[in-house]
Amino acid sequence: MKVGKLVQLLLPKVIEYCEQNDHMEFERLCDAGYSKRTFNINFPFLVEKGSLPSESSKRYWTNIYLVRGKTVLACSQWYEKDAVWFVEYLQRIGIDYDESQLEGLLLDAKVTSKQKASFRSRKANSRYRGNAIGNAQNLLVRNVLSNLGSEQFSEEDWLETKAYFNHKCAYCGEAKELVIEHAIPINKVYLGEHKLGNLVPSCKECNSAKASKDFREFLDGSDDKIAVIESYMDKQNYVPLENNEQVQMILEMAYREVGAVAERYITIINELFVHEDDNDEQHL
Ligand SMILES: [Zn+2]
Repeated sequence: MKVGKLVQLLLPKVIEYCEQNDHMEFERLCDAGYSKRTFNINFPFLVEKGSLPSESSKRYWTNIYLVRGKTVLACSQWYEKDAVWFVEYLQRIGIDYDESQLEGLLLDAKVTSKQKASFRSRKANSRYRGNAIGNAQNLLVRNVLSNLGSEQFSEEDWLETKAYFNHKCAYCGEAKELVIEHAIPINKVYLGEHKLGNLVPSCKECNSAKASKDFREFLDGSDDKIAVIESYMDKQNYVPLENNEQVQMILEMAYREVGAVAERYITIINELFVHEDDNDEQHL
C-alpha cells in the first residue's frame, strides 16, 4: 500500500487518539520538529486550515478533519521509504489496524464512477466514519457542560486558583509552567464542568498524562493531593454533578441526537452525489 493512502486511511484513528487519549498530542502533531522526528516529514503533520499559507497548500491534502474543535489539514508529503516511521508511530500510540481490511477499502476506491454513489454510502457505514461523529457528539457534551450556570471563570479567578495551589501543579507539585486543568473531566461519564472549583493548575506533562481521567483516578495513592483538591472544591462551593443520573441521561440523549443529526445530513449529501453522478453519465 502507498504510504499516502495508509496515512489517510488511518488518520481518523490518530485523531480519535488525540481526542480521547492524549489532548497534547494534537499540539505536537502541529509542530514541525515533532513531525520531523516522528515521521521524517519536512512539514507539520497537521495544520489549522486558517493558518496555512497559500503557497504551502499543495503540501496538504484537501480533506478537512475536526480535531479538538479545530478544522485541520494533513500533510501529504510522504516518501515511500518513510512508511515505517508512520507504522512505528501507530504502534507507539497503540493503534492496531487490519491491513487486509484497509486493502478492501482501497479496492472499493477503485470502482467505476457508476458505482461511486453506492461506494459512498457503503464507505459511510464503515467504522472509520463513526469517529468523526463521535468527535461532534463529545464536543456537544463538552459545550453543554462548559456553559451550565451563569458564572464565568475570569482571569482573576485563574490567578487566585494558582495562588491557592502555591503556583504549583496540583498533581505533581512542581513549580512549572501551568495550564488550566479540569480536575473532573468534562465528558458524559464524569460530568465535570468549566467552573471555579473544578479548574486547577497543572503542568503540561500532568495535563497530558491525565488526559480524560478523573483526578482521584489519576492521583490514586496520593491521598494528600486528592484532599487538597477536594477541599478546594468545597471552598469554592463546587458540587460535582457526578453520578447525577438525570443529567447523565439528558446528556446521553443529546449525544444520540447529534449522532442522528449527522446521520441525516450524511444521507442528504450522499443523495446529492447520487444525482451528480447521474448527470455525469448523461453528459457522456
Ligand atoms: Zn505536574
